[in-house]
Amino acid sequence: QNMTVQQLADSMGKDTDHVFECMLYIKGHNTDKYEEEDSIIDNIEVTKEIVNKTGLRFKFEEQGNKEAEQDMDAYPRPPADPSLLVKRPPVVTIMGHVDHGKTTLLDSLRSSNVVDSEFGGITQHIGAFSVHLPDTNERITFIDTPGHAAFSTMRSRGAHVTDMVVLVVAADDGVMEQTKESIKYCNQAGVPIIVAINKVDKQEADVARAKQDLLVAGVHLEEFGGEIQAVEVSAKTGFNLIALQEAIIAQADILDLKSDVTGPVEAVVLESSTHAGRGKLSTALIQMGTLRKGMYLVAGTAWAKVRGMFTERGDTVQEAPPGDAVEIIGWRELPSAGSQILQVDSENRVKEVIAWRKKQQEKLKSKQDIAEIQKKESEHQEKYTEFRKLKMDLGKPRLKQQRIMKKEKEVTSSHTGPQLAVVLRGDVDGSVEAILDMLDTYESKQCLLDVVNYGVGVVSEADVDLAAAFDGVVIGFNVTLSDAVKRHAKAQGVTIRHFNIIYRLMEFLKEQLTERLPSTQ
Ligand code: GDP
Repeated sequence: QNMTVQQLADSMGKDTDHVFECMLYIKGHNTDKYEEEDSIIDNIEVTKEIVNKTGLRFKFEEQGNKEAEQDMDAYPRPPADPSLLVKRPPVVTIMGHVDHGKTTLLDSLRSSNVVDSEFGGITQHIGAFSVHLPDTNERITFIDTPGHAAFSTMRSRGAHVTDMVVLVVAADDGVMEQTKESIKYCNQAGVPIIVAINKVDKQEADVARAKQDLLVAGVHLEEFGGEIQAVEVSAKTGFNLIALQEAIIAQADILDLKSDVTGPVEAVVLESSTHAGRGKLSTALIQMGTLRKGMYLVAGTAWAKVRGMFTERGDTVQEAPPGDAVEIIGWRELPSAGSQILQVDSENRVKEVIAWRKKQQEKLKSKQDIAEIQKKESEHQEKYTEFRKLKMDLGKPRLKQQRIMKKEKEVTSSHTGPQLAVVLRGDVDGSVEAILDMLDTYESKQCLLDVVNYGVGVVSEADVDLAAAFDGVVIGFNVTLSDAVKRHAKAQGVTIRHFNIIYRLMEFLKEQLTERLPSTQ
């Protein structure tokens, strides 16, 4: 009946740390006495709770205990070994009064980045973009999601998406109503501020007055003995934008931003949209773990098998580490902005989690219940954050640094092979899924297959254009190709093929990949 901590962990296929973590969340029972691996858990309620939190179908279920089945939600993630934490780019949001230059600043930061990139291509709005500082390895992720709706959702969840805020204050206008609101928001959320005193190119600019205003509003600038940096910029002319970015990096260094890149992925939905040509898309800001193709994600009651990831430049990426924001294809249903994304192991697990969440939702009919749950959730999140910090300080090494290095090697070596972008159209969901799964398994270290778009239906000219943009191929499965589309493909120099046997389709792709192999001399 009674088990030791070790035995319980073994029986669930988890380690003892996991059991100890679960105990931290148990209310109403004293769990302090079970502090050793061989401590005997002599309270069956505690055992049940731990099993509940683990979300595993366990013995209790067989014994007819339905409660044990219930908590199919994600359990607290095991804390990372401090040696596994890797520096990540800061995530920055721009705030300030209307017309003080937020949009202009975002645009010039974004385009300053495009100029020194080799792509120089079109950027698309995905809700965030990344800027590289010249001559360094430093990167900054800027969030440009319009409106504060998403942020209030995120705040109520207690998850802070943004590491710091750039507060834009127009030098010709000073501190205004929304400037004050932004300051209040930052103080409440405990998010550090960097001030960008904007429009200094204007004749009416009065930097001294703006600074005086800020002081009155409780923003203690460095030059007055405080700790908040202020940079004079012109979003319009681009003056001092590098200095602003350097100030952000300096602040990031103080915050010592690090994340666990190895464990399960945790992310936040920044934006979601259905695109006429490309289907269901959402942008995820990665907070923990490294997102890769083929992973299963759950957000609220929506889920995805990640089919592809894109940057704001429309480039495909093979993986996204913490601090990065990427657009994801592969959603079955669209997740709502602000919702938390968690990685789960399998499609079965996806179904279980969603079924459980839907059941919970039904239970929450009245608004009161919802408010209660939200409160609990943020309490939980607070505790969890506290716990992570604590655990990090204690530093209980579990995995080895070597593992990260090995991962890193794998990742870099995977980029040397040929790459082929594919646009896929099939007759029914089932066949498209089957092909996508085949592609997933075929992908190896030597080659990368990037599915840049897929779906059910006929091949369109837009599919051809997309393939052209990626120097890829278009494949139709059990769908007819119209003459117009064939002509368009020819004009664009895009290879377009039709198959009705998956095996032949795979053969064709292998040929294409071989053709792209660098000639070995
Ligand atoms: P937002 O409402 O905060 O997003 O402000 P906008 O970026 O739309 O800017 C409002 C107006 O100020 C626009 O007409 C911009 O062209 C102008 N503006 C923004 N930044 C600057 C600047 O640095 N100098 C000057 N002279 N005008 C600016």
